[in-house]
Amino acid sequence: MVDFAGKKVVVMGLGRFGGGVGVSRWLAGQDARVTVTDQSPAATLQSAMAQLADLPIEYQLGSHDPAILEKCDLLVVNPAVDKTRSEFFQRALRLKITLTTEMNLFVQRCPAKIIGITGTVGKSTTTAMIHHLLSAVLQNRHEPPGGGRRRCWMGGNIGRSLLGDLRKIKAEDLVVLELSSFMLEDTPWVQFSPHVAVVTNLRANHLDRYGSLPSYAAAKQNILRFQKPGDFAVLNAEDDVIRSWSALTPAEISFYSTAGPPSLDLAVPGRHNQSNARAALAVLGALRLAGDSGESMAALGGFRGLPHRLELAHTSLVSPGRHVRWFNDSKATTPESAIVALAAFPVRSFVMIVGGYDKHTDLTEFSRQLAATAGGVLGIGATGKALVTGVANSGWPPANRRAYVGTLENAINTARQWIGQDAAGKPELTAVVLSPGCASYDQFVNYEQRGERFTALARAIP
Ligand code: ADP
Repeated sequence: MVDFAGKKVVVMGLGRFGGGVGVSRWLAGQDARVTVTDQSPAATLQSAMAQLADLPIEYQLGSHDPAILEKCDLLVVNPAVDKTRSEFFQRALRLKITLTTEMNLFVQRCPAKIIGITGTVGKSTTTAMIHHLLSAVLQNRHEPPGGGRRRCWMGGNIGRSLLGDLRKIKAEDLVVLELSSFMLEDTPWVQFSPHVAVVTNLRANHLDRYGSLPSYAAAKQNILRFQKPGDFAVLNAEDDVIRSWSALTPAEISFYSTAGPPSLDLAVPGRHNQSNARAALAVLGALRLAGDSGESMAALGGFRGLPHRLELAHTSLVSPGRHVRWFNDSKATTPESAIVALAAFPVRSFVMIVGGYDKHTDLTEFSRQLAATAGGVLGIGATGKALVTGVANSGWPPANRRAYVGTLENAINTARQWIGQDAAGKPELTAVVLSPGCASYDQFVNYEQRGERFTALARAIP
């Protein structure tokens, strides 16, 4: 493997959220001479730079100065860089500078089998679900010879860089990587495709970068392109496009589908999560780890979702045998994402807490869909009143199941009252969902703080 000691490496793109931090730290740890360049000025990169403060890294910020490409041995490109439009990148190409990415550096050195997940939607959820399931199953397995448990690692587009963990990752471990189309643009540079490739779906997206659906699809297809016989492709059979991708790989194909088999008992709601769980089970089968189905089902059922995205925050006991589930979907900061949450529950079975910061977006469709599906609507924050009024104009839910209550605390108290008033023999309400459809800034620092407040209040309910 390449020895980076003394080599001049330029990291292009640190990122406001620190996407380039892990790779910069790792390269500095290999004694490379690291220069980080970013279009943004230092002021917006402070938190990322603070994480590297102990290292001898040079910065060239506010633009990409071509001068730093002189005598450059390696350019590490951030997936966010639109390479065809970047003058700086194009110059590096002309200068024939060796190119790589954080992901490529990792996959070239990772000793463990890699499970990669891509798709237009559901990547993060499916990645986390697969990681949850594999971790639970590995934990129940006996220890390998030589001691030490097999571990399952998670990285890529979700969470942090795994480069710093390379020393701890063992050959018998498993690594689950969320792979965005931007990351997959560059994996052909090292002819990489994962041992198990999962593809959830394909819809038009990122067309600003790709120009057309076929070129976006081509990037995603790199997840299969370098697979070998003995590898596995786990493909969503319910997506016509993805089904046809089985022709692109010599790997063993495992199609998954929600049509046919009975529903799985999951903590996370909605048909899309049934689909994601089928993908996770197919991965388990591909890895020949699907032992006792009771064990896999218990592990899958324990997956509570990603933080703030229809995450099961709490289950309360209303009366013997009757439970209500409290879901934190605080990340639903737009009407579109809250409408997705509405579709995840049976009609009229849930109370939805809505409203927040007023971005002056059109809330008409959201009100309409709320009226058509929710069993109760509670308005909070700046837009809550307008949403409740919109619902009232539709006449449903009835007046005793809709109210503007202002705060999250009041919303939870009112939801509890409504649940208590539900007919004992035939209760309608089985869930309370915070899915505001609006940003949080009117009452909270950010959506995370709003979700944490909701979760804390819900968990205080017996
Ligand atoms: P990504 O990482 O691809 O952006 P996420 O897992 O974060 O996707 O899910 C984003 C939203 O997409 C979820 O909140 C859910 O509403 C929806 N979703 C999740 N899985 C699927 C799926 N398999 N098919 C369609 N929609 C999904």
